Amino acid sequence: MEERRPLIAGNWKMHGLHREGVALAAAVAEKAASHHGHLHLDLLVCPPATLLREISETLAESVIAVGGQDCHALESGAHTGDVSAAMLKDAGCSHVIVGHSERRADHGENSDQVRAKATAAHACGLTVVICIGETREQRDRGEAMDIVGSQLAGSLPDGANAENTVIAYEPVWAIGTGLVATVADVAEVHAGVRAGLAKALSDSDAMRILYGGSVKPGNAAELMELKDVDGALVGGASLKAEDFWAIAETCL
Ligand code: PEP
Repeated sequence: MEERRPLIAGNWKMHGLHREGVALAAAVAEKAASHHGHLHLDLLVCPPATLLREISETLAESVIAVGGQDCHALESGAHTGDVSAAMLKDAGCSHVIVGHSERRADHGENSDQVRAKATAAHACGLTVVICIGETREQRDRGEAMDIVGSQLAGSLPDGANAENTVIAYEPVWAIGTGLVATVADVAEVHAGVRAGLAKALSDSDAMRILYGGSVKPGNAAELMELKDVDGALVGGASLKAEDFWAIAETCL
C-alpha cells in the first residue's frame, strides 16, 4: 500500500479580522516556503468566510490550500447567512469542513445534513473534511465507537473516495478544552474508523483520518506517529503560525 500523505489542517473558527488573518496566512506560507518544495505533507487553512478570497490570494503561490468551515447543501437560494459550496469554490477554496461538532451542536446538524453538504461540496469539486466524534457523556457510557461508527456511515456521501474526502475524528470533549484523548483511545477509534471505511469504500486504505482535539506542539508527535492517524485538524493552535508549524513539523 502507498503511504498516506499527512494533512495538517487549521480551523480558525470565528477568529481573525482582515489584517491579522492575512498576516497569519502569510506567516504560515513563509514557514512552508522555507522547506523549498521538500514538504512531504499537505497543509490547509480554513479561515472565516469573510477572509477566504483574500487569503486564497495571499496563498496563491504557496503549497497551502484554503478551505471553508461549512457549506450549505443547496447551490443558491433564500438561505440568509449561508454560503454554498459553489461560493467557496469561487472564493478560491479547494476544501471545506463539514459536520464539525460545533455545527452539529450549535446548529443542530445531523449526519443526513452533513452528507448532503458533502455531496454538494463534491459536486463543486471541493474536498471535504468530514468531522465525527462522541461527547464526554457518550464516551462515559461506553458508546464512543458506536457513535463514531454511525456518524461515519451516515455522513459519508456516495462517491466518496480518498481524493475527495478526509475524515477527522474529533472527540467533542477534547475540542478547545486542553483535554486530549489518550493515545490508546485515539488508536482504537482510528482503527474502528478505518474498519468502517473498509466496509463502505473500495479505496478505504488510502483515505486519510485526522485527529482533532486540543492538538498542540507538545502532544502532536505521539499522536501523529500512530498507525491510522494521518494528520491533524487543529483549532486553537492554528491561530499561531509558530504552533501550527511546530505541529506540521512532527509529520515532516
Ligand atoms: C477544532 O476546532 O476542530 C479543534 C480541534 O479545536 P482545538 O484544536 O482548539 O481543540
